[in-house]
Amino acid sequence: MTGDAVEHRQLVIAGTGIAGLTAAIYAARANNDPLVLEGDEPGGQLTLTTEIENFPGFPEGISGPDLVNNMKEQAQQFGADLEHGVVESVDDSERPFRVELTNGDVYTCDAFITASGASARTLDVPGEDDLMGYGVSTCATCDGAFFRGEDMLVVGGGDAAMEEANFLTKFADTVYLAHRREEFRAEAQWVDRIQKKVEAGDVEIMRNTELLEIHGSAEDGVDHVTLAQNETGYPKDNLDDPGTETFDFDVGAVFLAIGHTPNTEYLEDTGVDLDEAGYVRTEGGIGEGETHTDVEGIFGAGDVVDHHYQQAITAAGMGCKAAMDADEYLGDLPESEAGEAEAAAEADD
Ligand code: NAP
Repeated sequence: MTGDAVEHRQLVIAGTGIAGLTAAIYAARANNDPLVLEGDEPGGQLTLTTEIENFPGFPEGISGPDLVNNMKEQAQQFGADLEHGVVESVDDSERPFRVELTNGDVYTCDAFITASGASARTLDVPGEDDLMGYGVSTCATCDGAFFRGEDMLVVGGGDAAMEEANFLTKFADTVYLAHRREEFRAEAQWVDRIQKKVEAGDVEIMRNTELLEIHGSAEDGVDHVTLAQNETGYPKDNLDDPGTETFDFDVGAVFLAIGHTPNTEYLEDTGVDLDEAGYVRTEGGIGEGETHTDVEGIFGAGDVVDHHYQQAITAAGMGCKAAMDADEYLGDLPESEAGEAEAAAEADD
């Protein structure tokens, strides 16, 4: 679609990660003619990882990009349309919904699935981009097993950092947990659990420590990192302080666990309920309608909703549910409403 044309679709799905693509497969097979919008991170978080060993059905493992490409092909085979497009806003004040993209394109749709994911926060330090997928990772569950026997660095002080450090003790020689200040943000139960790992010699905590640079190469992975420490905390903000010590430290892998940012800015002016961090609140629970948001006809799936499990397989499950919930909603729409939507879009053309 080009220019100011408005095209009407039964269903628009925002996101081509595992949730969005699974929703697309189900929606296309249910004849809901989905348009799937591929945003700034096509394929989602999985494209940041190398090998996936825990997605059922692939005993030899499969690379993240291969899994995503297979799912795209599968969705297209059933009739889903995939287009590049970043959603700028969704107008839920009238039906059909009006979906505006950053390039000026506008779609209207009867139902909308938000599956735009959450982006792992990164540090923007030298070496990080070049080594992402080659020893630098934002997902210990995905990549930890590749660095068996290495010393590993986890950056962060929240629940995720603790969880990742704990998980990585299965593979690492020693897990070093670097947190930028003295107090952890993580819940006490996690801190206690990690303390037991410290006592067992599996984890070493580096408080008031920040990562300045990651050294290595795509061929050989991470070789070492440069860290800064200052006992008053936030050493990066105090590099000129004589109390700040900067030093190189040997590790074979770096895991960033400094939080995720859900990609939901475009929903801020809608009736969709977002939590304090911006994640979409859905009905959840057991049974039909789990992926309903507070706006009838808008459904949520994947990491944009779920900040806890954040796994490809859980995202796939939610994508399936969102497509089934959307199908039920679309099936209940009066014929006239669907017809009016088509007519309104054509009139706008
Ligand atoms: P989080 O709670 O926001 O913690 C992020 C951590 O990263 C904080 O310790 C923060 O330091 C640190 N950080 C952020 N930016 C940084 C930077 N630029 N440089 C260095 N450090 C930085 O995120 P999360 O741990 O991913 O958790 C997200 C949500 O999921 C939370 O609600 C959490 O409870 C939940 N969760 C729960 C579990 C569980 O098992 N119950 C597991 C994982 C996640 P400061 O503390 O100094 O800000």
